[in-house]
Amino acid sequence: MRLSRYYLPLLKETPADAQIASHRLMLRAGMIRQEGAGIYAWLPLGFRVLKKIEQIVREEQDRAGAVEMLMPTIQSAELWRESGRYDAYGKEMLRITDRADREMLFGPTNEEMITEIFRAGVRSYKDLPKMLYHIQWKFRDEIRPRFGVMRGREFLMKDTYSFDIDESAGRESYNKMFVAYLRTFARMGLKSIPMRAETGPIGGDLSHEFIVLADTGESAVYCDRQLVDMDTPKKDIDFDGDLQPVIDQFTAHYAATDEMHDEADFEKEVDAANRVSARGIEVGHIFFFGDKYSKPMKAVVAGPEGGEIPVQMGSYGVGVSRLLGAIIEAYHDDDGCKWPASVAPFHAGLVNLRAGDDACDEACARIYDELTGQGVEVLYDDTGARPGEKFARMDLIGLPYQIVIGPRGLENGEAEIKRRADGEKSTCAVDAAAAQIAASVKKELSYD
Ligand code: ATP
Ligand code: MG
Repeated sequence: MRLSRYYLPLLKETPADAQIASHRLMLRAGMIRQEGAGIYAWLPLGFRVLKKIEQIVREEQDRAGAVEMLMPTIQSAELWRESGRYDAYGKEMLRITDRADREMLFGPTNEEMITEIFRAGVRSYKDLPKMLYHIQWKFRDEIRPRFGVMRGREFLMKDTYSFDIDESAGRESYNKMFVAYLRTFARMGLKSIPMRAETGPIGGDLSHEFIVLADTGESAVYCDRQLVDMDTPKKDIDFDGDLQPVIDQFTAHYAATDEMHDEADFEKEVDAANRVSARGIEVGHIFFFGDKYSKPMKAVVAGPEGGEIPVQMGSYGVGVSRLLGAIIEAYHDDDGCKWPASVAPFHAGLVNLRAGDDACDEACARIYDELTGQGVEVLYDDTGARPGEKFARMDLIGLPYQIVIGPRGLENGEAEIKRRADGEKSTCAVDAAAAQIAASVKKELSYD
């Protein structure tokens, strides 16, 4: 992509009302634009990152055996009356009436709708288990939208729903999502820690929030340091096998958010040296709730011995748009973002220090073609801006690699390469630059 044709409206001033780094940087780097309280337009650069995050979430859901679909954003109030949540949900729900005075709402979540879809199509225990998910915009009229995309009113969520014949099968679905979540966040460079969460009236231990530690996180969290160092399950993990040992490993140590925290237990269970008391961002939440919706909404299947059995359900959310904020919080410096390659808007920035100079243009064109031919995504700064402005811009948008071509270097047949993560600079032969970057990017994109 040529920068001269791109739309990258950077802000010179630091936005005054943006309190945390990720919010400031997303505005400054032209990734989002606020259109209302907690409502954002996704500008081209931010949109590319959103899509990358969405794709990683999708790949890991698919790997775990969940099936993608898409439900509408607008739902009928009727559905929510069936579950009894229409009145209970409160002011966070955006309620709408259509021209025929029918009560509608902008979905804050989809338990009711998926239950309705499921009951229309599944009749027998033989059709179970099922896991269905979608990645869709939600609206919650949050009392205090803040921190940019971290707590928006309109936000993109991945929500999965599991349907099983009994509780032990339900636990297996829960375990699949547990492992899928660990892998999903790890692929974005995030260390997530599953923490016990409120289970509501049905009790049990099957509710975890996945927390990324960050000073700017909204929740106070407490955990055993051993969880921070725990290895992420590998790509070849068998989702149809027994995942319980992995879950046991991650749940054997103390980890709780504010609401669930018990200081006495914390001190009893964790050595002083391993006690982490920090702040965190909730990037995902998994929850098994049994027949809470299937019973009132009559989502039943014929059981093995006949009779109608309400299915056991769970729901599993990922804050897709919130993740951009969480990743920037983890990867930035004073100059800007430092994207991990897996979610970077482009893998490399190609900086032509003298656009219009034949030798520079020609060298850049060759490098550009070679890189894109290798599958490397390149943002090519072919503008006439001053070098200082070009460097600052590249640092701000934070692509993993920068390749700088200027007349002085070209005289010696050299290109300069900068790795954004640690600022390391090196020179290499112009002819070797593309191959070197392509190899580095490929290495960073591979994961297990
Ligand atoms: P929170 O406690 O942060 O309000 P929640 O428990 O209401 O979140 P869930 O219903 O569990 O959220 O939604 C699943 C995921 O969606 C959350 O883990 C979070 O990552 C994301 N999410 C929830 N609310 C918002 C929001 N207002 N803006 C952005 N992401 C959100
Ligand atoms: Mg939650």
